[in-house]
Amino acid sequence: MALHLILMGPPQAGKGTQAKLLAARFGLTHLATGDLLRTISQADTPLGHRVGDLLQRGEYVPDELVTQLVVERMDDHDILLDGYPRTVTQAETLEQRAIPIHRVFVLDVPEQELIDRAQERVFCPNCGAVYGSRTNPPREPGICDVCGHGLAHRVDDAPKTVRHRLKVYQQRSEPVVHFFEARGLVQHIDGAGPVGDVAAALAAATAAVFAARNGHQGRPTDDR
Ligand code: AMP
Repeated sequence: MALHLILMGPPQAGKGTQAKLLAARFGLTHLATGDLLRTISQADTPLGHRVGDLLQRGEYVPDELVTQLVVERMDDHDILLDGYPRTVTQAETLEQRAIPIHRVFVLDVPEQELIDRAQERVFCPNCGAVYGSRTNPPREPGICDVCGHGLAHRVDDAPKTVRHRLKVYQQRSEPVVHFFEARGLVQHIDGAGPVGDVAAALAAATAAVFAARNGHQGRPTDDR
């Protein structure tokens, strides 16, 4: 049975950074709707312009569009959903399609810390690596460690947009946390500390989910 894990958290909680680390560590397929949508927004097409406009304003993209992006990429591998579901409608869609969810990790970070992080965050438009000047700075300022490309600010990290994105998260995504809480699937992770500490907490929590799955299947625990 393939495992389906979800990583949730408000903007700047470190979701993308942690999802990449976790996926690499456990060999999970990492489905990041924000990354998929940013790629779509770069296309000079009506869809690209529409998505780009929504991202720039910090608004959510329509449920059907995001659901299609995710569902068409789900196969029988263990999957980490990063940024999906973000609305109760999206969560209900997973249930209606009988796509099981095994654990939902929610990164908790105080609001002021989220706002501070947005001002410091830069990313690589070429390979998608993300840096924070305090939490995980690039070796050379402004240059990607991974591919050497110049780093940039995300358009939706502008202070006004960040505050709006936080409000949208509270209104539309916190109910998703409650939706999964009601199903006993939520595990809160303290996301306020250094990247390595948060990664270790997430890895331990994920290892426990794998152990439960493997025990259930009567196979030895995967202790990667
Ligand atoms: P992220 O990189 O996860 O912070 O996502 C960046 C932006 O992409 C969000 O602020 C939304 O505008 C959009 N987005 C990502 N995932 C979803 C989703 N599941 N539903 C609607 N919009 C989304």
